[in-house]
Amino acid sequence: MLKDNHQRTINYVRLAVTDRCNLRCTYCMPENMQFLERAALLSYEEIVRLMRTLTDAGINKIRITGGEPFLRKDLMQLLEQLAPMASISITTNGVLTAPFIPALKTLGIRQINLSLDTLQAPRFFQITRRDQFSAVKQTLESLLAHDMEVKLNMVVMDGVNTDELIDFVALTRDQPVSVRFIEEMPFNGQGNDFSGINWNYLRILDTIRAQYPIEKITDAPHSTSLNYQIPQHKGSIGVIPAYSRTFCGSCNRIRITPTGGLKTCLYGDDVLNVKSLLKEGASDAELLEHLQAALQKRAVDGFEAARSNTHAQLESMSVIGG
Ligand code: SAM
Ligand code: SF4
Repeated sequence: MLKDNHQRTINYVRLAVTDRCNLRCTYCMPENMQFLERAALLSYEEIVRLMRTLTDAGINKIRITGGEPFLRKDLMQLLEQLAPMASISITTNGVLTAPFIPALKTLGIRQINLSLDTLQAPRFFQITRRDQFSAVKQTLESLLAHDMEVKLNMVVMDGVNTDELIDFVALTRDQPVSVRFIEEMPFNGQGNDFSGINWNYLRILDTIRAQYPIEKITDAPHSTSLNYQIPQHKGSIGVIPAYSRTFCGSCNRIRITPTGGLKTCLYGDDVLNVKSLLKEGASDAELLEHLQAALQKRAVDGFEAARSNTHAQLESMSVIGG
């Protein structure tokens, strides 16, 4: 079992398999985002080796994210290797996802987080700068038709989509989806133009409560979301205090960036580069030693991590691994 310096067990890794994306969500990256050279990314072999080392050390949950994971050509081969190692979930924007759903199911991968910030096509274009609403909607329909476990991620943006909170809650009446309202974070890859949020999780909950009688349901251990249900609804809702950072005390996760950076906190800097270690010929035992040493210097929460991170305001979630 991996433990950090605050006695928190680490059993969950979020693996960003690429920084590339076919959307340009305004809260995540600029239109002219400079993507990394392919050679800088972790290779197929490096990913498999790293995930084997981590799962041997007690990691039992891997979330595949990015960038957009389905832009990676060897994604399905990678998933074939990783599926027997741990419980796999994927976060995707849904543009290219639909055709892969049956194969994911065959691999036993059923937990899909689909990012969707609006139910209105013109607004989708305004937020993502790409005309892909119908593809994403089709993916949602196909995921539900295939009985996948779907979480819908909606980033709540002041003056952009807050008038749709109730429409998203309404979706849970007939659909067995978990809609999760995420506080916006500063990682938009555009520099210093983030001045905090007007919509924190409490305001989001109050707004929903004014329309629906929400009831608290049990949160999974280490959950970052606070979850609720509306009586008679098939689905559920959750709020993720990603900016308020109320969940750090029970954080069980680490992140691997597309270039092999290890982040022990979303708000912190990379603390190690695994790709460099692998290139230098590190053994599995040495890799693990470096990892354990990094975990012994882990910040107590996202506020402490942010104080020592000089790059935070410039980073895009696609590079951090959202
Ligand atoms: N491209 C995939 C997608 O959009 O689902 C996976 C990567 S994306 C970076 C992962 C998640 O991070 C998405 O749900 C996205 O909405 C969220 N995200 C990106 N930038 C964010 C920000 N500045 N604040 C809050 N959430 C953000
Ligand atoms: Fe791409 Fe996901 Fe970032 Fe949107 S949030 S630009 S879909 S990586």
